[in-house]
Amino acid sequence: MIHLRSQKEITAIEYAGRILAQTLERLIPLAKEGISTKELDAEAEEFIRKKGAKPAFKGYRGFPASVCTSINEEIVHGIPSERRLKNGDLISIDLGVEKDGFFADAALTLGVGKIGKAAQNLIKIAWLSLLNGIAKARPGERISDISHSIEQTAHKGNFSVIREYVGHGIGTNLHEEPPIPNYGEPNKGPRIKKGMVLAIEPMLCMGSWKTEVLKDGWTVTTKDKKLSVHFEHTVAVTDDGPRILTLWKKKNLLQ
Ligand code: MG
Repeated sequence: MIHLRSQKEITAIEYAGRILAQTLERLIPLAKEGISTKELDAEAEEFIRKKGAKPAFKGYRGFPASVCTSINEEIVHGIPSERRLKNGDLISIDLGVEKDGFFADAALTLGVGKIGKAAQNLIKIAWLSLLNGIAKARPGERISDISHSIEQTAHKGNFSVIREYVGHGIGTNLHEEPPIPNYGEPNKGPRIKKGMVLAIEPMLCMGSWKTEVLKDGWTVTTKDKKLSVHFEHTVAVTDDGPRILTLWKKKNLLQ
């Protein structure tokens, strides 16, 4: 069932979303050469709890940390560890926040120090694909119009779209109906309605979209070990169109 949220519920989700955005704003300047992903995770958890909220990923299906940190060929679900960021790495940070029973979910990818031209382009196109997907989150469109718009943007940039992991509805659970693939034909699937709250999350890669899961049981990487990036926002559908509930401030996408 796809929930249609009242204005009051959307406001509650947005409150969780604001804590999430503030958490990312704290992490962005810390994600530099030399910091470990475990240190980033600890910083996020402390900040979220100080706000009276909970890190929604911690314990979710047994996930051991508050944020997912996925480096380079890792796509999603990377577990924070002693691994330290190096100059030229791409780090994706994915984060869920629960506040008073309402959930928000967002992710971004950052370049550490100096990254290559191709990696910069991958980040730019993935970000653009998220914005183009969000633009379709308006009454009258269909879920696959979001998917198609993301895929078109990725293909114009000559990048592939990960197919095995998808976006989702969100609200009183971290993952709700409907699934939102990042590829596919337009004009299919459920009609988008006012009150839907959607976590839209394109994952783009340089090579093939085929993936594998590492021995830790969580970390998803590209099979060909080429770079992958991930952006996500939680978005409410209103009469006036999409409203982003997790909007973080960042001066420059490429730092
Ligand atoms: Mg998500």
